[in-house]
Amino acid sequence: MSKKGDMYYAWTSDAEIAKKAECGGAVTSLLKFALEKKMVDGVFGVTRGQDIYDAVPVFITDPKEVDKTAGSLHCGTLLMSKLVKKYLDGAKDMKIAMTVKGCDMMAMYELAKRQQINLDNVIMIGVNCGGTVSPVTARKMITEKFGVDPDTVHKEEIDKGQFIIEYEGGHKGISIDELEEQGYGRRSNCRRCKLKVPRQADLACGNWGVIGDKAGKATFVEVCSDKGAALLDAAVKAGVLKTEAPNPKGLEIRGKVENAMYKLSDKWRAKYFAGLGEGRERLKKIVKETSRCIKCYSCIEACPICYCVECSTKKPYLVTPGQVPPNFMFHLIRYAHIADSCINCGQCEELCAMDIPNALFMHAQQVELEKMFGHVPGVDMSLPLLALVEEREERDRLSATGSDQIFDIFK
Ligand code: FAD
Ligand code: SF4
Ligand code: SF4
Ligand code: SF4
Ligand code: SF4
Repeated sequence: MSKKGDMYYAWTSDAEIAKKAECGGAVTSLLKFALEKKMVDGVFGVTRGQDIYDAVPVFITDPKEVDKTAGSLHCGTLLMSKLVKKYLDGAKDMKIAMTVKGCDMMAMYELAKRQQINLDNVIMIGVNCGGTVSPVTARKMITEKFGVDPDTVHKEEIDKGQFIIEYEGGHKGISIDELEEQGYGRRSNCRRCKLKVPRQADLACGNWGVIGDKAGKATFVEVCSDKGAALLDAAVKAGVLKTEAPNPKGLEIRGKVENAMYKLSDKWRAKYFAGLGEGRERLKKIVKETSRCIKCYSCIEACPICYCVECSTKKPYLVTPGQVPPNFMFHLIRYAHIADSCINCGQCEELCAMDIPNALFMHAQQVELEKMFGHVPGVDMSLPLLALVEEREERDRLSATGSDQIFDIFK
């Protein structure tokens, strides 16, 4: 019997899945098995649409269809969790199994604590995630840096620090560090992300640490919950999944790579946050950048923390109707409501019609709040700060510090 903390190399026994899958097909096999055995009513995954830049979310109820979700799409910048709330009624009355990157998983917790998703009905199969590249950047990067027509690329992968493409007539890899120094590469929120192994999901699966003859043919699975252990054990018992103990050297390498990724994220955080300046300088920058806003509401629509039926930004006494750009209150409302819980998923930036770095602004505030109050969003069911703070007590506390920013922010 497996238990939380156990680790394995795992791979599918299904040759068809193995062919399509990223690293041995354990994830696809687990999803398919859960559906076949009616442990869940549906599987929520991602499949390739028009091309490699087009990641399409799919909800599947026929086990035969699960194979089409095999493979990792590194230009799949989508966030799965809000779709569970919007289109699957928050899994309130159905059981689902889904694949989650770190940000998907964090958003699941934030939605669950707001009672928008029933986590008891969800099996979360986590995939390690080093980052995703926006489809627009990927096309530009492949044209300008790789010198390849992006429409001829039929496969992309991120391996050993390189972004690698296969295209008609060849393949090419360029180091991600080099690409990012030149303004290409992963999204800025991914560079700052520090949830590369989603251990708060039920299983955490990835290629880091798989070495030797299993490299590229198996996935490193870490068991993160009883639910995850039960699914894995049942799949192994049924013969759809094979496992073996991880190579000790591989285990060591996995730890080293993970730590190196966190150091890199710290470097990027320092760089991005320093670029914003501090105090009034930071506020001025935010006011200036957000003055391009056309009030399209994409940021609110996409943000997993925004779920309110009546959004305050639509209240005429707070934000004047019909005014574009909206007064700064539009953005202040979002900062006040979300900053403590922002999971840095990047959706509000990626989908902003005016390319405003919204995720950077919110994430910078979240990090400050985390330093002040120690609240880390997205990793458990602990309530957000705004649910905990007593206003009077908090004002007194801030006032006693002699630097109460609540009152003099606009001076
Ligand atoms: P498969 O059987 O091929 O199943 C893959 C699953 O991933 C499918 O369920 C599919 O729905 C889902 N999926 C594909 N693209 C996305 C997406 N964009 N968002 C959400 N779900 C998606 N592992 C590491 O160890 N280090 C990394 O840096 C790393 N980066 C990754 C980045 C991304 C964007 C993704 C999706 C995965 C990453 N992985 C990483 C995990 C690794 O690529 C494999 O997914 C994992 O080892 C499982 O392999 P498999 O053969 O069992 O998966
Ligand atoms: Fe992956 Fe983190 Fe980027 Fe999400 S925010 S896509 S988990 S690197
Ligand atoms: Fe994601 Fe932006 Fe919402 Fe933060 S504010 S959780 S980055 S959409
Ligand atoms: Fe709710 Fe505030 Fe988001 Fe509007 S901006 S949906 S009120 S959290
Ligand atoms: Fe404004 Fe951008 Fe939000 Fe649209 S997505 S409302 S342009 S900040």
